[in-house]
Amino acid sequence: MYKIAIIEEFHKSGLNLLDDNKNFSYEIINNASEENLIKVLPNFDGCTLRVSKLNKKILEKCPNLKVVSRHGVGYDNVDIRYLKDNNITLCITANANAIAVAEHVMYMMLCISKGIISHDRSVRNGQFKQGIKDTQTLELDGKEILIVGFGRIGKSLISKCKSFNMNIKIFDPYVNNETIDKLKCIKVDNLKNSFKTSDFISLHVPLTKETENLINLESLKLMKKTSIIINTSRGGVINEIDLNKAINDGIIFGAGIDVFKNEPVNIDNPLLKNDRVLLSPHSATFTDECKIRMAKNCTQNIIDFFEKKLDKSMIVKL
Ligand code: NAD
Repeated sequence: MYKIAIIEEFHKSGLNLLDDNKNFSYEIINNASEENLIKVLPNFDGCTLRVSKLNKKILEKCPNLKVVSRHGVGYDNVDIRYLKDNNITLCITANANAIAVAEHVMYMMLCISKGIISHDRSVRNGQFKQGIKDTQTLELDGKEILIVGFGRIGKSLISKCKSFNMNIKIFDPYVNNETIDKLKCIKVDNLKNSFKTSDFISLHVPLTKETENLINLESLKLMKKTSIIINTSRGGVINEIDLNKAINDGIIFGAGIDVFKNEPVNIDNPLLKNDRVLLSPHSATFTDECKIRMAKNCTQNIIDFFEKKLDKSMIVKL
């Protein structure tokens, strides 16, 4: 029987798959501190992982570990070098997240450009029409969106932006022209030039050395005063101090931020006090439907791994 550690609990529909399979037993570990994982993880054959960190100090205490199944698609919280060197498979819930994140991007773009939060506040405060004159609002129709990173989520965003009659530009040096042409979008090779013309910029890249601080004061200064930037990728991709300054100085219009450099976000993070920033707590995938898809995909990957039928698209090439 394979012993599986569920590091940080998720939707029961995923756990039910393990309950129904006599080849697996599992234990839920909700204390995901380094200290506790070093203590409790050594005997497991596989584990699932949400947002907590799985570093070398923990992993080297787990001689039996053969597979790590991420509940999600990003994997910047795992020591992938250690996994590679020790032949541990890393899998992700590749097909579960894209719709929910793409919908979250649309929600943020609409909410910011329509001034929804301030309008809602002014109606509740008895300022029925007075609030309107102080709030600039914009349309999506005919506007240019630059999608940075054209993987599963970037692609899922296309049909939604098209239905709002937006012009779509794509920056992703690792995707060929054909794929982008087929979807009737425009591939751009020069990110800086594209910043200058875009009304909306949506980030869908992994956090890597190359993408860390991709959006900083220098790049923000290239953007239009009316531009809105949405980040549902990873916190480190935007320099938060620079973003806050750019919005306060009128360099760009506003931002929608689902992910932060430090999570949970520090209470003294200046973005928390900026009214032109719409915030969410890394919750783009927290729809009921997506929670179920992720949970099932996550445990099914564990089962498929041990039953030697894991789909290649779920495996991260290390
Ligand atoms: P994906 O791997 O399918 O796509 C990522 C794309 O980024 C790839 O096409 C890749 O070529 C491209 N890319 C890599 N480096 C780049 C660079 N320097 N410039 C431009 N493009 C670059 O991943 P995905 O499923 O679309 O997810 C994207 C990211 O979104 C994930 O890495 C994860 O960090 C984040 N995410 C966040 C949430 C959330 O809850 N907010 C949920 C899911 C994923």
